[in-house]
Amino acid sequence: MRAMTLDAPGEPLRLAEVSMPEPGAGQVLLRVHCCAVCRTDLHVVDGELPDPKLPLIPGHQIVGTVEKVGEHAGGFTEGDRVGVPWLGWTDGECRYCLAGRENLCENARFTGYQIDGGYAEYAIADGRFCFPIPEGFPDLQAAPLLCAGLIGHRSLRFAGDGERLGLYGFGASAHIVAQVAAHEGRRVFAFTSPKDQEAQEFARELGAEWAGSSEEAPPEELDAAIIFAPVGALVPAALRAVARGGTVVCAGIHMSDIPSFPYEILWGERSVRSVANLTRQDGHEFLTLAPEVPVRTEAVPFALEEANEALDTLRGGRLRGAAVLVVDRRALQNPARNSQ
Ligand SMILES: [Zn+2]
Ligand SMILES: [Zn+2]
Repeated sequence: MRAMTLDAPGEPLRLAEVSMPEPGAGQVLLRVHCCAVCRTDLHVVDGELPDPKLPLIPGHQIVGTVEKVGEHAGGFTEGDRVGVPWLGWTDGECRYCLAGRENLCENARFTGYQIDGGYAEYAIADGRFCFPIPEGFPDLQAAPLLCAGLIGHRSLRFAGDGERLGLYGFGASAHIVAQVAAHEGRRVFAFTSPKDQEAQEFARELGAEWAGSSEEAPPEELDAAIIFAPVGALVPAALRAVARGGTVVCAGIHMSDIPSFPYEILWGERSVRSVANLTRQDGHEFLTLAPEVPVRTEAVPFALEEANEALDTLRGGRLRGAAVLVVDRRALQNPARNSQ
């Protein structure tokens, strides 16, 4: 099968012919329709996350059809359309797993990092960690839900119930969260790189009542803010923008160092917290919610062999929505295919 592989961090991905994987016990073999590109893929490829499997097939927002089922593979059967997220495996027995916090599992393994992912024609996944894709939800729109959507949703929950929500960095995740937040009756304030008029316009189209530069103060205090951009300097900026009691949520897996800041911007019971990974419950909840909103994902398609271009476009902040590698071209044509 064809796959885009990472031989060493810092190098471009290479188009390779690799042998077809076989599903073991608990696993399914998927024919990949498409795989959305996440900022975490960039961190893996650029060597900002330690010790990836090498060589590695990246990609952890996979939509595909089950082709073969191993024993005890989560109840899926051939022909089912499923999604594969970042959380690829947990031990089920550490203190976090036993407490219902499998996202923090000490021995967790992640798709497209320690497990080969979806930048390929076929992928293996643990069936217990796959989700059914909602019927009628097109492949290209569904793929970005699997991380951008899921992590965004978890971040939004941790942001609390406040009405005035700030989103720092208006990429794949924020463009989904903005729609969910508007659906919940919140007011969205979007912050982008200075001068990124296009992203600000995009945010307004998706219901943000204000969009501006992250160097600006919002027109009024916020109740909470979510930081999606991997820029540590946004933490004090967001703390300055939130009201007393407000929460600043850092949604990314990697961020540049946070500059020191005066205690007074944290005082007033403001808090800063991160969000790490996802639980399967997050996935089931969000994939039920997304069609109700309904979330309309803006997908920018790239061919499998254009994975490096997709990553470069994301790195340069030039995407409107989410980049998606289209592996099976039928994913482009058939808007709501549910099986073969
Ligand atoms: Zn565990
Ligand atoms: Zn991701």
